[in-house]
Amino acid sequence: MKGFATRAIHGDLSRERGHGALRMPVYDNAAFEHDTSHSIQLAFEGKKPAHCYSRISNPTVQEFEQKMRVLTGGLAAIGVASGMAAISNTVFALAEAGSNIVTSRSLFGNTLSLFTRTLAPWGLEVRFVSMTDPAEVERAIDGKTRAVFLESITNPQLEVADCAEISAVTRRHGVPLLMDNTLLTPYLFNTKAAGVDIELLSSTKYISGGATCLGGVIIDNGTYDWRRSPRFAATAKQLGPMAFVAALRQEVFRNVGACLSPHNAYLQSLGLESMSLRIDKSCANTAVVAAYLAGAAGVATVHYPALAGSPFQAVAEKQFGRGCGGILTFDLKDQKACFAFMDSLQLVRRATNVNDNKTLIVHPFSTIFAEYAEEEKLAMGVRPTMLRLSVGIEDHADIIDDLERGLKKL
Ligand SMILES: *Cc1c(COP(=O)(O)O)cnc(C)c1O
Repeated sequence: MKGFATRAIHGDLSRERGHGALRMPVYDNAAFEHDTSHSIQLAFEGKKPAHCYSRISNPTVQEFEQKMRVLTGGLAAIGVASGMAAISNTVFALAEAGSNIVTSRSLFGNTLSLFTRTLAPWGLEVRFVSMTDPAEVERAIDGKTRAVFLESITNPQLEVADCAEISAVTRRHGVPLLMDNTLLTPYLFNTKAAGVDIELLSSTKYISGGATCLGGVIIDNGTYDWRRSPRFAATAKQLGPMAFVAALRQEVFRNVGACLSPHNAYLQSLGLESMSLRIDKSCANTAVVAAYLAGAAGVATVHYPALAGSPFQAVAEKQFGRGCGGILTFDLKDQKACFAFMDSLQLVRRATNVNDNKTLIVHPFSTIFAEYAEEEKLAMGVRPTMLRLSVGIEDHADIIDDLERGLKKL
């Protein structure tokens, strides 16, 4: 198999672009014409691979999907409008009223809100456990559990679960294991090798590079036997391993309508080509910045899984060979100090995104988690004293200069 960077640039080496175009053009159209009525019938019946309508499939989106499939070694990938669309489509497809999913409170804020605020009224039970305790995960699973969901590094708690241990539990119970791998991407963490069945990504982050647009990807790693899932048992008899992807493409993803726009797919594909270079730089910068902050006056604590002394250092080292990504958090004296620090920065941008080329800072307590009560935030490990830094790919000396300016103001 070719290396990661080669696959990110060349995909599956197909050359179906017309006119010899070296880059897949943007097919910025909604509908596709067929020569005969029979042809469009076959396409609708799924018997002939052909595009009909861009909400369901589109050549530019398909090329991005193929690249993601080739990169991960998954069975199939579906490009969607955003990371949240990847998560919501997947849970819509897997769970039903009266069923449950097992997850942790250490979750991206909007994911937690999707589960508890949006889907709970539709009858989904959300069982919270600690993903660092596989026995607790096992106790929460029952015959109505449709998925176990976790993040490869949680945002913003930066907690790392032992994926192989959780996977051993889900395999024993025949429940699909879902992982949001946004903060690491397939470059830093091969979820298929770690026993994850479905990988979910916000491609808005590292993949797009420079936060050019929103996007998301659902990857079926092809490791789950869909005959074991009550919702897919019948279709799996006909479609085998493609049962879940077909259910998305021909039903849930089609009906929800959160498709990836061709223009955004183009930008995501372009970003993907340089992603491994950017991630290497971002990880190297983050390690330097974490070490600086850990020794800086005024900084109470620094959290980064690769940092010596982190409770997750050993598991992170075992799982993520090349690095732990570009997000770290640190605590100052109080919220007032956090705001004063942020407001004195000149290079680092006050913005909520992560894994941009630019270094970004945010105070999660007052922004991303604003919808939760103080006790709920504290239970989620979101403290008023905590700042989240997403380290970009600038020269690290300049990032540190700026942070130093902020600390001097305290
Ligand atoms: C940003 C993010 C999401 C949501 O992705 P969008 O593309 O903004 O919808 C989900 N999970 C994690 C870990 C994220 O950082």
